[in-house]
Amino acid sequence: VRTRVGIVGAGPAGLLLSQLLHLQGIESVVVERRDRPYVEQRVRAGVLEAGTAQTLREAGVGARMDAEGLPHEGTELRFNGQSHRIDFQELTGRSVLVYGQQEVVKDLIAARLADGADLRFEASDVEVHDIETARPSVTFMHDDNPLRLDCDFVVGADGFHGICRNLVSGLRVAERKYSYSWLGILAEAPPSSDELIYCRHPRGFALHSMRSKTISRMYLQVPADERLDDWSDERIWAELHTRLATDDDSFTLTEGPLLDKGITPMRSFVSTPMQAGRLFLAGDAAHIVPPTGAKGMNLAIADVRLLARAFAAFYTDKRTDLLDEYTTTAALRIWRATHFSWWMTTMLHVDAAGTEFDDQLALSQLEYVAGSRAMATSLAENYTGLPYQAGWSYK
Ligand SMILES: Cc1cc2nc3c(=O)[nH]c(=O)nc-3n(C[C@H](O)[C@H](O)[C@H](O)COP(=O)(O)OP(=O)(O)OC[C@H]3O[C@@H](n4cnc5c(N)ncnc54)[C@H](O)[C@@H]3O)c2cc1C
Repeated sequence: VRTRVGIVGAGPAGLLLSQLLHLQGIESVVVERRDRPYVEQRVRAGVLEAGTAQTLREAGVGARMDAEGLPHEGTELRFNGQSHRIDFQELTGRSVLVYGQQEVVKDLIAARLADGADLRFEASDVEVHDIETARPSVTFMHDDNPLRLDCDFVVGADGFHGICRNLVSGLRVAERKYSYSWLGILAEAPPSSDELIYCRHPRGFALHSMRSKTISRMYLQVPADERLDDWSDERIWAELHTRLATDDDSFTLTEGPLLDKGITPMRSFVSTPMQAGRLFLAGDAAHIVPPTGAKGMNLAIADVRLLARAFAAFYTDKRTDLLDEYTTTAALRIWRATHFSWWMTTMLHVDAAGTEFDDQLALSQLEYVAGSRAMATSLAENYTGLPYQAGWSYK
């Protein structure tokens, strides 16, 4: 099979890149190791920055998102039993959209297939070859047949556990591990609040969020080595009630049957360069952040915006400058999001290995954000998404 861009991985990064390239008349083939139902049902991110939502609209996949997504104009910080609202719209003029990552993936797959795209699900033994030449290739097994995809470029959008990152020679990794994980549940219960609640409690962090008007998504901070089997549904609900309670008892948590439950480790990880010869990395393949700032999928989408523009410049004007600058340009946003995610995480979680000093710093930071318009604006502009163009100010 011959194509221009061979894409490894059908997550949000790989699929959106394929769609953006198609809109510019550039052919691609997507090779994915899982089957389509698995990819479409994987429950993960849910908060879309304003720019992410706009990118999806411009890519022609915004109709269902706009009909079913829940616009959020603010969020709540809860600590010391008190609630403090951060009004995104008033502080920045922007808001976020709550719409599940698996819905974004479904919309992208539907759009690609409607245009006759070549998406190869259930590919096994995927390997990338000859990235230092002008004719790299991807080989894999598909329906028991060995296939070779000859390309001009290969994009590794194969997530954190993919194969492409390790092909980059001279890889530099900057990382931070945390002593806690998130136990996440998806419950068939109407959300107990219209907006997300980020809560710091002496027993640990809790997040109340939602996926729709009937489905709640909630998380609890647990130790990094926690076993899911130790958390019965009853124990999860009891802990959520305790951590999310307010001093004036104004908050009532609605319960419902659990549809999904899992433990997600927390890690900050940035690897550079994001390119080697004709191989480019995008999304979780190159970087991950702890989910507290809701940045992972948004960053993946920002990466492929850059790549789509760089490939378009290459094919229309034979320009290679944007491809050459890809790592440097992408890293600016990646490090901003990495700092924001680390900051939100350390401010809202209780570090069991920490001291009274660490606790008081985190609480002081929360008090400052809740009480200072400047700090609240900083949180709001990072959360709703900084501009894509150079410079961090919308003004
Ligand atoms: C519990 C949780 C909550 C999160 N919440 C948020 C949030 O609120 N907001 C946010 O922005 N982000 C969030 N994230 C992060 C977000 O889900 C990821 O950043 C996002 O999925 C990255 O997209 P991607 O396309 O780069 O990678 P992935 O979605 O991981 O896609 C990679 C794809 O490559 C495939 N693949 C892997 N190896 C191979 C191979 N060898 N050959 C072929 N295919 C391969 C995988 O099967 C997968 O389909 C969350 C993550 C988790 C786990």
